[in-house]
Amino acid sequence: MRTLADTSCQMLRYTPTPVQKIRDPVFDRAGVQVLVKREDLNHPYVSGNKWWKLKHNLVEAQRLGKKTLLTFGGAYSNHVYASAAAASELGMESIGIIRGEETLPLNPTLNFAKSRGMHLHYVSRAMYRKKQEPGFIDHLHNRFGDFYLIPEGGTNALAVQGVAEFAKMLNLNYQFDYLCCAVGTGGTLAGLIRGLPAEKMILGFAVLKGADFLRSEIERWAGQAHATWQLHTAYHFGGYAKITPALSELIKKMKEENNLPLDHVYTGKLVAGVLDAAEAGRFRRGTSVLLLHSGGLQSPPEI
Ligand SMILES: *Cc1c(COP(=O)(O)O)cnc(C)c1O
Repeated sequence: MRTLADTSCQMLRYTPTPVQKIRDPVFDRAGVQVLVKREDLNHPYVSGNKWWKLKHNLVEAQRLGKKTLLTFGGAYSNHVYASAAAASELGMESIGIIRGEETLPLNPTLNFAKSRGMHLHYVSRAMYRKKQEPGFIDHLHNRFGDFYLIPEGGTNALAVQGVAEFAKMLNLNYQFDYLCCAVGTGGTLAGLIRGLPAEKMILGFAVLKGADFLRSEIERWAGQAHATWQLHTAYHFGGYAKITPALSELIKKMKEENNLPLDHVYTGKLVAGVLDAAEAGRFRRGTSVLLLHSGGLQSPPEI
């Protein structure tokens, strides 16, 4: 049943996004068609998977009458960036609990978050590790009062629900056999698994080193009935946010040859993994492979 609070919820803007075909000799040799869902274009600041992960959290925060969002992240976090923008768009306050010490001048991510009114609160790495402990959350409530808490990276049950909705929409609107995505916390992959039918195969490419532990978390978030999936853990390029010359080269090449902008932390690694998967014959000949462009291109032109 809808309550008055539901109907009065303000929603984030959403721009419908295109699908783009990309070409590469590797894909031709593998006999597959490769498409990219440009979900990075769904919102200028709350882009890609972050839009879908935040959606139901924002509705819930408003339903509960919360005036402030509080979340956690590192100094370059796309989630912190998106949360600050979402809060300001909906007229909410926001607090970012940032790992490590303040460095001035602020980097572009934190500078943007601050410009959207986010209050930045820095905690030591040791303290940051306690971010899920009730004692630490109580301390934050004592300090900042009432807030709606969104975990680091934005992954919780409502985030998975939002991504599952997105996956259902994909399934209704596009023909594809495989769906490929970048994996940070695994919340997005879990939502895709949850939203797609069993005949679809989903390949996730982890951007963190040593991400094998994520399989059980993804299983837990994805729940019972779901699509088949794999997590590939060899495409971290040295670890989270680490870059190699080969990765930079690939990003440049994709921009030049396919007019596809990619970031170094997530989607560049995704495309590297997909090219290798095609080369290794992991996609059946004659099938189509859909890549999720999950965003991560901070500071688009002002619109
Ligand atoms: C946050 C992010 C991801 C990772 O999403 P998870 O749900 O944490 O796995 C992937 N791509 C981009 C561009 C992101 O910003």
